Order: sequence, then structure tokens, then C-alpha cells
Amino acid sequence: MTVVTQASELTAALGNAGQPRVLVPTMGALHHGHLALIRHAKILAGAQGTVVVSIFVNPMQFDRAGDLAAYPRPREADLAACRAAGVAVVFAPEAAAMYAPDHSVTVSESQLSRNLCGAARPGHFDGVCTVVLKLFLLCSCQIAVFGEKDFQQLAVIRRMVRDLNVPVVIVAHPTVRETNGLAMSSRNARLNAAQRADAPRLRRALLAAQAAFQAGTRRPAELLTMARQAIEASGLARMDYLSLVDADSLESVEHVEGPALLATAVFYGEVRLIDHVCLVP
Ligand code: AMP
Repeated sequence: MTVVTQASELTAALGNAGQPRVLVPTMGALHHGHLALIRHAKILAGAQGTVVVSIFVNPMQFDRAGDLAAYPRPREADLAACRAAGVAVVFAPEAAAMYAPDHSVTVSESQLSRNLCGAARPGHFDGVCTVVLKLFLLCSCQIAVFGEKDFQQLAVIRRMVRDLNVPVVIVAHPTVRETNGLAMSSRNARLNAAQRADAPRLRRALLAAQAAFQAGTRRPAELLTMARQAIEASGLARMDYLSLVDADSLESVEHVEGPALLATAVFYGEVRLIDHVCLVP
């Protein structure tokens, strides 16, 4: 496995351009969710192809300085996990290697990023689009794997690829969860014991609303109230948002007529977690 920190070293590390190159972009603190994406990438790359994992805590996508500073960075454990997973190349640059001090060009998505995390975290998806496009170009990958856990991110990246004719196939991987239902996240490591014990209620609340929907409850207000009460019941989770949106446009819906998304973000102390369920009439 080759570990590269400078963009200028990537071409040599990546080797044969004739074979499939599959990128898994991450911010590190790798867990089983990331490893599932890497396994999927290996299948997509085939025996002759190359899996590249990027590990970069991208300052441009953080809206809170404290969150950026506290983001876990267990570099040695991450490299060991990549090595064990059979990753060929890890690209782990410092911020200075990614952004010139006077960088002034960004990618901005203006429709799908208006609601949900985009509304709650101004500038977040501009940061995501900009860094992901840079990573695509630096790694010259034909395929990139993303998790459905970050549903809005996936939608925004697919839109960027479509609208800018980026020659990269985007492959989605389902959310990987703890046995108690909690979506795996690098941020889970920052929860204290009480918060960690409470956090699976997010999933339970969303599943209960999904079950009510399937049993015939169609009014968004009713579904939202039910989920909100269940999430806030212990008093430990502070709601950032809870929204019912169309699964394609990510706009709020008055009536669920097509596939929709019940999505939430909550704070446990300073730690922000997200999750969602799909509602399909
Ligand atoms: P992150 O390091 O959190 O930026 O995530 C890197 C990639 O891993 C993104 O495509 C995420 O959607 C994906 N990912 C993170 N957590 C999970 C999970 N629990 N299940 C599936 N994919 C995940």
C-alpha cells in the first residue's frame, strides 16, 4: 500500500491508467461503514484495478470550528485498516496541499443543497462539491463509492456529476449500522456513555414513523410530530432539523405522493448525528 500526501506524487503512485480506478473519499476515523464501501470498491475495481482511499478532513465543509478541531484523526489506525482491507493507495493530504492560500474557485450546487443539512450548515455542500471534484481530478478515477447514510451528499454529488459532465460513475452503498440500529459514524466515538446508549432512538423513531406511514398515516405533520416526540423523549437529543422531503428534489412535501425521505439531524452535546428513512407510497 502506498501512502501519498502530495498531489504531485499521486500519478506515480496510481500506476497503470488503463485499469479501473475506484475512489472512496473519506474523512478518516474509519469504521465498518467505510470498510464496507472499500470492499465494494474492490469488487468494482476487479483484480486488475486500483482502489484509492482518500483521507482528508476538509476544512471547507465544516461550519463550526469546534467540530473541525474535534474531528477524530486516528491516522495510524486508519492506515492499518486500509492495509488490512487491501487498499492500493491512500491519499492523505494536509489542507495546505489541497488549497492554495488564495484559492478562489469553488463548486456550488444551488437546488438540492437548500434544505436539510444544507440549510443547517451554510456552505457545507459547496465545500463537499469542491473537494470531491478536486479528488476526482487528482485521482483520475472512473468510479467513486459513496454511502447512502449521507443521502443529501449523494444527491448533490450526483447532480454535480450530471451538470458538469464529470466522467465518474457514482456508486451508492447502503448505510451500515450497529446491531442496535445506530448508523455508524466517525462522530459516534465522541458520544459519552449516556448519549451512546440513547442514540439508537433516532433509528427507532424514524422506523416507527415509517411503519405508521405504511399503515396509512399520510399527513406529514402527524408523521413529523410522532418522530420528533420519540427522538426528544429522553431529553438528551437536541433536534437540529426533522424534515419530510421529496426523495428526488429534496423539497418539503405537503402530501406524500412519491418516494419521500424522513430525515433528521440531532445534537448530542456538540456531536451532530444524521439519519433518514425512505417512505415509498
Ligand atoms: P465520512 O468519512 O463520514 O465523510 O464518510 C465517507 C464516506 O463513507 C461517505 O460516502 C459516507 O456516506 C460513507 N459512510 C459513512 N458512514 C457510513 C455508514 N454508516 N454506512 C455507509 N456509508 C457510510
